[in-house]
Amino acid sequence: MGESRALSRAEALRLGPGWRHACHALLYAPCPGRLFGAVPLGHAVLMQMRFDGRLGFPGGFVDPRDGSLEEGLNRELQEELGPGAAPLCLAEGDYLGSRSAETPQRLVAHFYAKRLSLEQLRALEDGATRAKEHGLEVLGLVRVPLYTLRDGAGGLPAFLSNAFAGDARQQLLQALGTLRLVPEAELRRAAALSGQPL
Ligand code: AMP
Ligand code: MN
Repeated sequence: MGESRALSRAEALRLGPGWRHACHALLYAPCPGRLFGAVPLGHAVLMQMRFDGRLGFPGGFVDPRDGSLEEGLNRELQEELGPGAAPLCLAEGDYLGSRSAETPQRLVAHFYAKRLSLEQLRALEDGATRAKEHGLEVLGLVRVPLYTLRDGAGGLPAFLSNAFAGDARQQLLQALGTLRLVPEAELRRAAALSGQPL
């Protein structure tokens, strides 16, 4: 996605047929563990390595003329995460916001987040290799390191230096702040260290 702007759900749904819509979701769970017995993990946040070598969130193109945005999203989640995603059933209440961009194509990206239990999230991870798109559109699930290591660069700053699909990097940063998974000051520091300040 080139330059993108935030718009309301209603405004997005009024856009004409020249616009494509995509829905993606951040799935997360509280995670009590500590890395090396010392660094608190806080939460497990899922992203995926995509076919194009970029990181993104599960989801994909939806056609709002075929049903609700959420029906399209839930279908995409099952294709990419496997049958274990069926009970997730994301709904309008899980919607976080939309951003639109004109380049490289007219696209509105709708973004969702849902909190799971760690058991639910682990069951998803366990079943993900049985998804229809495993090894095709999805090369593997990853958890996002939310901490910054003592060297000041390892962890979230290094993760944010990866290449991301569409608006995924911005969506991740926004969600980590809004959902209070990482304190704002730490997010700001991690984004700056990764070479792309907030
Ligand atoms: P997909 O089918 O998942 O590749 O997504 C459809 C379109 O949305 C593609 O043009 C992607 O570049 C774009 N896209 C993928 N992931 C995201 C994301 N997290 N946020 C915004 N756009 C995305
Ligand atoms: Mn996809």
